[in-house]
Amino acid sequence: MLNSPEGYDRAAHVQAIIDVIPSPIFVKNKAHRIVMLNSSACDFFGHSRESLLNYPDNTLFPADEVRVFHDADDRVFTGNGDDENEEQITDAAGRVRSVITRKRLVQLDDAEYLVGVVTDITAYRESQAHGHYLAFHDALTGLPNRALLTERIEQALLGSVQSYALLYIDLDRFKAVNDIHGHQAGDELIQKFGARLSSIVRASDTVARLSGDEFAILLPHAADKEVAEDLCRRVLAAASQAFELSGVQVSVSASIGVVFAGPESLDEVELQRRADVALYRAKGDGRGCSRVFTEALDQAVRYDLVFEADLRKALMAGGRGLELHYQPLVSLVTGQVEGFEALIRWQHPTRGLVMPNDFIPMAEASGLIIQLGEWVLTKACADAASWVPPLHLSVNVSPLQFAHGDLAAMVERVVGQSGIDPARLELEITEGVLVDDAVRGVALLNRIRALGVRIVLDDFGTGYSSLSYFRQFPFDKVKIDRSFVADMLTNSHARSIVEAVISLGRGLELQVVAEGVETMDQLALLQEQGCAQAQGYLISRPMEISFFVGSALRAVSESGAYTAP
Ligand code: C2E
Ligand code: MG
Ligand code: MG
Repeated sequence: MLNSPEGYDRAAHVQAIIDVIPSPIFVKNKAHRIVMLNSSACDFFGHSRESLLNYPDNTLFPADEVRVFHDADDRVFTGNGDDENEEQITDAAGRVRSVITRKRLVQLDDAEYLVGVVTDITAYRESQAHGHYLAFHDALTGLPNRALLTERIEQALLGSVQSYALLYIDLDRFKAVNDIHGHQAGDELIQKFGARLSSIVRASDTVARLSGDEFAILLPHAADKEVAEDLCRRVLAAASQAFELSGVQVSVSASIGVVFAGPESLDEVELQRRADVALYRAKGDGRGCSRVFTEALDQAVRYDLVFEADLRKALMAGGRGLELHYQPLVSLVTGQVEGFEALIRWQHPTRGLVMPNDFIPMAEASGLIIQLGEWVLTKACADAASWVPPLHLSVNVSPLQFAHGDLAAMVERVVGQSGIDPARLELEITEGVLVDDAVRGVALLNRIRALGVRIVLDDFGTGYSSLSYFRQFPFDKVKIDRSFVADMLTNSHARSIVEAVISLGRGLELQVVAEGVETMDQLALLQEQGCAQAQGYLISRPMEISFFVGSALRAVSESGAYTAP
């Protein structure tokens, strides 16, 4: 078509064709003068065709932008001329654009020209930058994420920084906030806590969100350990200040694991593992505190993790090695055994007999308490189903079982399957249930009580022991902690507390039990005060149920002291 007959205006046709091409196109000669360009080039550069044609490019464009019209080495027409490079230029509207200009040398008749095609890739570059931002930042808080933290740790390890500290921070009870107030409140808490963290660090520190409720702070130049320790205090304070979340006030606490590193060669994986180990210990030590990594702590945690794995295995094998012992509760009025408390023990393959105080806290920290609690209730109900006469069964329940899973549904199912009369079952809870989340605790207690199960407040007198518990929930029974029973004959305060609880029970019409009764004198005093039930070594230690069957289920002697067969 371009080789047309006489009179045909080739230039006009070529111009018309290139004018419909949306990318800016220009052609210049060896004198750097623009000899042809299309409409979109005029639009893009913001000049009319007339003002561009035949002017040298360096008079039209600022020095730093004239590169668009040159090749990479600024040696147009010297090399082979084929060239492609990315430039930043300001367009007619004053916006900075990213463009790729492709330049080719063409020989037309006797002259050489440079043809340039400009492709605007601004949108692509912007989305790439955004993608990069997203890849290294957390969407909810805008804080650096784990990938960026890792990169900064690597930089710190490689660079000139002589010492630094890494803090791993985890919010305690975050799941409860989510469960009770909804995920929106949970998100808000994460955002606000992240902002608080950012406000208490130095500009050179990195605050990152690792996942869920886990944050980290990298502190370069932390040779002075005081700096990190001071920061830990401020983080703990920042967490414990109440949070205002769309109208509700929420209190949480945080646990912190700290690792200090010097110029010695540690890789970032090992560093993060150490921070994790220290955090694990802070959580195991009751949360709301910070722990610093040491080799000794590492050893201890490894030992604990093996222990935890052993319990998991035992539960998966249907409770292999776990056993329940039973301790009788006797009436101080009739001297009769009225029921038994189930107390767990663990025959560990290498550690021998492990008592509950040595593994219940671990089961709680690891979450295994949910499965363990179900195992205990199932086994205890199955055992009690065959007792003649059908005495009461007391089972301990951890506050953690109230916080996670549906305890009421589990109790209903297990009791139903065992076939025991729910009125024979007593669940022993501690005040933790009412302290951690009273609303949820009371709701669950009411559902369990509606099944006909009785609720006992265990270990009363220790902890906060607020009288308001009795207003929050109508307990059926209260157990005086054994520490008061142990001291009541020698310490007038302990004795007063025992007496006060007994009279409180009378006033509130709830049964009072004394645990840890070891002597006849204690028993006599409790009897005299009008305490309803007693439990303790004087009557019997916790034993396997086979020990009692047929003998202990019969009356206890009038003296009140149980005589073993
Ligand atoms: P607890 O529920 O207050 O149980 C009473 C503890 O006092 C038992 O310790 C019992 O053996 C001990 N004891 C009873 N009479 C006497 C006495 O006269 N003198 C002394 N010094 N101690 C006495 P044990 O079996 O070691 O259990 C300790 C705690 O572990 C229990 O305290 C309970 O809080 C927890 N626990 C036991 N079994 C379970 C269980 O199945 N689930 C849960 N969640 N916790 C359990
Ligand atoms: Mg108990
Ligand atoms: Mg107790």
